[in-house]
This record gives sequence, structure tokens and C-alpha cells, in this order.
Amino acid sequence: MAPKLGCIADDFTGGTDLAGMLVKNGLRTVQMIGVPSEPPPPDIDAVVIALKSRTSPVADAVNDSLAALDWLKKAGCQQFYFKYCSTFDSTPAGNIGPVAEALMDALGTDFAIACPAFPANRRTIYKGYLFVGDVPLHESSMQHHPLTPMRESNLVRVLQAQVKRRVGLVDYDVVRKGADAVRGRFDALKREGCGFAIVDAIDDGDLLAIGAACADMPLVTAGSGIAVGLPQNFTGIPLDAALAADLPPIQGLQAVIAGSCSSATLGQVAEMRAKHPAFLVDPLELSKGVDVVGQALSWAAPLLSEGPVMVHATATPTEVKAAQSVIGVERAGALVEEALAAIAKGLVAKGVSRLIVAGGETSGAVVKALGVKGLRIGREIDPGVPWTVALGPDSGARPLALALKSGNFGTPDFFLKAWSHLS
Ligand code: ADP
Repeated sequence: MAPKLGCIADDFTGGTDLAGMLVKNGLRTVQMIGVPSEPPPPDIDAVVIALKSRTSPVADAVNDSLAALDWLKKAGCQQFYFKYCSTFDSTPAGNIGPVAEALMDALGTDFAIACPAFPANRRTIYKGYLFVGDVPLHESSMQHHPLTPMRESNLVRVLQAQVKRRVGLVDYDVVRKGADAVRGRFDALKREGCGFAIVDAIDDGDLLAIGAACADMPLVTAGSGIAVGLPQNFTGIPLDAALAADLPPIQGLQAVIAGSCSSATLGQVAEMRAKHPAFLVDPLELSKGVDVVGQALSWAAPLLSEGPVMVHATATPTEVKAAQSVIGVERAGALVEEALAAIAKGLVAKGVSRLIVAGGETSGAVVKALGVKGLRIGREIDPGVPWTVALGPDSGARPLALALKSGNFGTPDFFLKAWSHLS
């Protein structure tokens, strides 16, 4: 059966966030890394294509998004979802608006919602104003974001500055009355000549009503919050979260690769070191041309059959600064990423089939080195970190379970407990 919902996310972690939400709401979901060259795997309800388009030049963001849409259409998706950040992160050139309009043109539709609300993460919209926790967007830390500073909280004005079509508002007074009222307001806005509706939402009940009102819309543009409200529009899917997260059982050798120096990972590495063998990758050695990759792989070879091993560059802020002052910040980061990615590849070649990677950039480097094209999303280990099964030619012969952990996520015993969530 073809997937029903086709999603385009403007960055990788945003894609993971949405994919996890869809699984929790009962859709069997894969996240693809960039626009795939092959058709989707079978028995999937939703596909999320993760792009890197949030801060890229607007023409590139539009082209990449249109290529993703094309693939999703060919895959048979019935509804399309452009996913951006719940703080509506957009460059001054405004990638959200131009991408949304290009997708609308390509889908032949002239009306779409724009709703970054994510109440569970305290992103709410009231009277068109986006709140981050207790403060409006422009008073939140987003005002200082290095790439996408947000200095206006009124989303009607933010979006209107980015698009040709008129932007209207579905006010909370309407949303609280439910799906029929929201649908009625959509019709009124269309009659008034609007092409976009910013939609107020302050709790998950609102998202359910908005989702139901969007059942017939070809395109939804939103944060990941709306994922709560869309799945029930699709017929023939059991919407069972446990079933959606069910992955084939994967046994086999276990390893942890940690390239994050965030405080949560420091704690997790310490707990893991106390119980299992660990190898420290030293950036200074790498900069001297020492074959650290070879050393790590030779070290791991006899240990792998005994239980999980860990290879980490994770170090304290003082140690990291010391290395950076000798090698430079960027070079240190790049050397470590490259080495950890090569070690991950070597470990998989030695038979590792359950791999945890800590660190966002580190995960990106590992996934690239392994030739992973996508991830089937499974059960969560901790909030925001699911087990996944890798899709891609290099891991095709033997299934590979991957848990890609953002640096600051997870409890201190994450590397110890994660394995039990796989069986
Ligand atoms: P996080 O998710 O915590 O931000 P990332 O993997 O995204 O983790 O980023 C961590 C960065 O720090 C990577 O570029 C990694 O290569 C680099 N790094 C890791 N260990 C060290 C170290 N000991 N010294 C210098 N840089 C390091």
C-alpha cells in the first residue's frame, strides 16, 4: 500500500521530530535523508523527507522542496505536509513563504494553513501571535538566533512579508468551537481572497480540530504539532502507536559512538565507561596523523563478542578548549567527526548491527559514511530518541539498528538501557 502522508521537513532534526510524532499517533513512518533515488519501502503510512533548506538560499530551498514533492507524489501520497520549526524560523529572504507558495503552485491549490503551534513544547498561537513559553516569539531567545533571528511575533505579518498571496487569521474564538467552525472560517477567508490562514492553537484539542478541518487540503504547512490531528483523516490505518513503532527484532553486536560533548552525553559516557570497555579518540593524535581509526578498530575487535563497546571523543569543556586552541575549533570538529564516522563504518563491517550515536553533527557524519538513505522509525528510548532501522544499500544485506541521539537528550543511563528497548 502506498504511503498516505508525504512530508517535507526543512532540516534533519525537524524531520526526526515529525517522524516520531507521526509514529506516536499511529502512522508507520520512514524518514529519508534528502530526496531519495529509489521508491519508498513497502508497508509505510507516512514518509518524511528531511532536507537542509531552512537557511539555504531561497531558490535552492524551493528547488529541493519541489524535488521532494515530486518524489512524494510519485510514491502515491495523498496529502502533503511542509514541516518547519515551531518558532517559524525563517531567513530574512523568508524560506517558509516562498517554499509554501511553490508547493501550492505545484499542487494546484490556492489555500493552505500555516500553523507552527506545538503546545506540548509550549509553542502556542493566540490572535496570530506566536508564544514561546510565557513570552512572545520576539522576546524569546529566538530574537538572537545567529541564522534566523525572529523579531516579529505576529505570524500574519511575518508570513505576509514572505508571500504574494494574502494571509488571514483563524482566530482562537473560532478554533475553540471545533472543526466545523474552522472549516467555515477557511471558506470565508478564501472568499475574502486569502491564500494562507495562520491558525491559532493553544492545546492538543485545538490541533485535533484543526487537523480534522484540513482533511481535504492537499497541503498543510506547520510545525510538528499538527501531526497530532492529521492521522485520523486517513482511512484503513489502525492508528495503533505500538504497531506503528514495531520494528523487526535485531540482534547482534553492539557499539556506542559518542562525538557530543554536551553535558547529558558527558554523564552518559561516564556511566557507560564504568560498566563497559571504552576507547577515547584524542583530536590531538588525529591532528598528528596517528592512525586512531585503525587503533580503535583493533582495540574493539576482540571485545565486541563480550557486549557493547564505546568509542568516544566526548571530553570536558576544558579538554575540548585545550584541543581547540592547538588545532582550531573547526578542524578539531571535522577531524573528530571524520574519525568517528570511519570507526562506525569499520565496526559495522566487523558485524555491529546495533549502534548508538551521540551528537547531531556526529550522527550526520556517521549516517553519511554508512550510506544510510533513510530510517524506519521505531520505539522511543527517551523523548525524542527512537530506535530506527537503517535503509540503504550499504546496510542492505544485514539489518542495522541505529539510535541517533542529539547531544543533550536522554537520561544518564541511556547507553546502558537503550538495548532493552530493541527486543
Ligand atoms: P551535539 O549534539 O552535542 O551538539 P555534535 O556531534 O553535533 O554534538 O557536535 C559536537 C562537535 O564537537 C562535533 O563536531 C565533534 O566532532 C566535536 N568534538 C567532539 N569531541 C571533541 C573534542 N574532544 N575536541 C574537540 N571537538 C570535539
